[in-house]
Amino acid sequence: MKYRSILLFGAPGAGKGTQGKVLGVIPNFFHCACGDVFRNLRADSPLGRVFIEYSSRGQLVPDAQTIKLWRQFIQNTTRIGRFHPQQDTLVLDGIPRNVAQAEMLRNTLDVVAVFYLKSADEKNLIHRIQRRAIKENRLDDANLEVIRERLKTYERETKPVLKFYGRKRVHQINADQSPAKVLADILQLAVKK
Ligand code: ADP
Repeated sequence: MKYRSILLFGAPGAGKGTQGKVLGVIPNFFHCACGDVFRNLRADSPLGRVFIEYSSRGQLVPDAQTIKLWRQFIQNTTRIGRFHPQQDTLVLDGIPRNVAQAEMLRNTLDVVAVFYLKSADEKNLIHRIQRRAIKENRLDDANLEVIRERLKTYERETKPVLKFYGRKRVHQINADQSPAKVLADILQLAVKK
């Protein structure tokens, strides 16, 4: 059985996490932010160390380790009854993050829609990321050089994922609007799916 999924897509700071959290409290939606799964690892565990090594440089964690961790997370949340694959739509945020990951998840995900949160203004993204650094105490958010590297990684590795899923499934959303308006735009499309 494939997991029915919608993907939140966009550059760091575009608001995927904010939207994902809100969508995740709606019955029959289950939000999974890959970055949060990594951040919940113990910093002194082997994979926790790998995560810090890559994320502190603005780079992606290697694919095999990422997908393995993600599968474990989904299995665990299913086992403890937080995620119900039969009823729930997965709201994925931060995964798949490159074409190789999309390929690895091809037989696992039934992607019904991709919401591409697009900001016209990189300055806006950087500003949001820096504000988040203070609130959430995130290492990778604090340093302008790391932020720029993350934006570059996004352009180079993550953006091609849009093509992988094809035009028909991708819905572009204006990420420069207020969070409530972004949510309204997503829901209007998501409830029909
Ligand atoms: P942002 O969307 O602001 O980049 P995330 O919380 O999604 O923040 O990710 C933080 C970091 O976690 C990334 O820079 C990367 O190092 C790692 N990461 C998250 N998801 C993935 C993934 N699917 N593949 C590889 N690395 C990931």
